[in-house]
Amino acid sequence: MLKDMMPHFDLYQPDTLEAALDLAARLGEDGWLVGGGQDSFDWLKNRTRRTSAVIDLSGIAALRGVRVRDAGIEIGALTTLTEIEDDAVIRSRYSLLASAAGRVASPQIRNAGTLGGNLCQDTRCWYYRGGVDCYRAGGNMCYADTPEGQNREHAIFNASRCVAVTPSDTANALVALDAQMVIAGRSGERVVPAAAFFVGPDIDIRRMTVIEPGEILTAVRIPATWSGAQFHFEKVADRTTWDFALVSVAAAFRMEGEVIRDARIVCGAVACVPWRVTAVERALVGATRNAATADKVAQLATGGARALNFNQFKLPLMENLIRRAIRGA
Ligand SMILES: Cc1cc2nc3c(=O)[nH]c(=O)nc-3n(C[C@H](O)[C@H](O)[C@H](O)COP(=O)(O)OP(=O)(O)OC[C@H]3O[C@@H](n4cnc5c(N)ncnc54)[C@H](O)[C@@H]3O)c2cc1C
Ligand code: SF4
Repeated sequence: MLKDMMPHFDLYQPDTLEAALDLAARLGEDGWLVGGGQDSFDWLKNRTRRTSAVIDLSGIAALRGVRVRDAGIEIGALTTLTEIEDDAVIRSRYSLLASAAGRVASPQIRNAGTLGGNLCQDTRCWYYRGGVDCYRAGGNMCYADTPEGQNREHAIFNASRCVAVTPSDTANALVALDAQMVIAGRSGERVVPAAAFFVGPDIDIRRMTVIEPGEILTAVRIPATWSGAQFHFEKVADRTTWDFALVSVAAAFRMEGEVIRDARIVCGAVACVPWRVTAVERALVGATRNAATADKVAQLATGGARALNFNQFKLPLMENLIRRAIRGA
């Protein structure tokens, strides 16, 4: 009966970053930040999580838009996924990110959903979203990693009690592009590499990023290094729209003629964080970008993987997506 009816909370709508940071510092864990609300409102409508206060960031104009900066770009955290998908500079220099943003959810969700919210969203594990008392929710078991557990969507790498995966499509592209996350707090700003921004359960099982209560992700910077490189983004899901990845790949290749000089291969939905496949990256340096190279190195991708009862299919799927990325399918 209560589903779709949000519980009462105090709503704050600051229009400057300073006001938002003051509120975030004052409210601490009680101040739930909201960009587009597409992840947050699910939790609140389902009443699986509650908060006494919401800080709506969407009125802070300074946190929106794409700016050229130091030969790279800076994207405000409140920029919507549709704006990223359509932005001319991103499309011409970093089309990997435009492709990833364009594969998130549905057009309606991309119109409202922000880059910051997409990167900071919580995991979609069925059990956890259903409100059970699993490890991640503060309990003492994982319901997905049991003989009967429904774990088709779950992790094949890096599990540590929790086998939930990162749901964000843009996260994988940004790790591949060596992006940097700009995080503000009342005492100043810190800049964290994208690869260190996401947190696995071995480090902290209760959160998905390094953001602390009182902090706000204000922008994402992408350096010039990968500007204009060759890119490949591909996502396999049960539905072609409005669905999370079963496995995805975000790949970037810096070329010298036909030869790969540097590569980034990052897979989504195989671990709790965007998963950089460094064994394949290393094997690609100095190789030709073609089908023969793809066939030779793709099987390196799944070394060390541990499949669960219902997700063995992720191993060949991941290898095949990487094979397709390398040969440029
Ligand atoms: C049906 C459905 C399908 C979906 N499919 C996909 C998909 O295919 N791929 C995908 O990647 N995602 C998917 N999503 C997840 C997600 O809702 C969207 O990706 C959206 O981008 C979230 O952005 P938002 O701004 O609306 O998030 P919000 O709900 O506003 O925020 C999400 C989280 O991030 C925090 N947050 C927001 N902004 C900031 C900030 N600036 N600093 C610090 N913390 C912040 C919030 O506190 C909250 O915890 C889907 C969601 C739904 C409901
Ligand atoms: S995978 Fe993680 S979130 Fe899901 S039930 Fe297990 S501990 Fe909870």
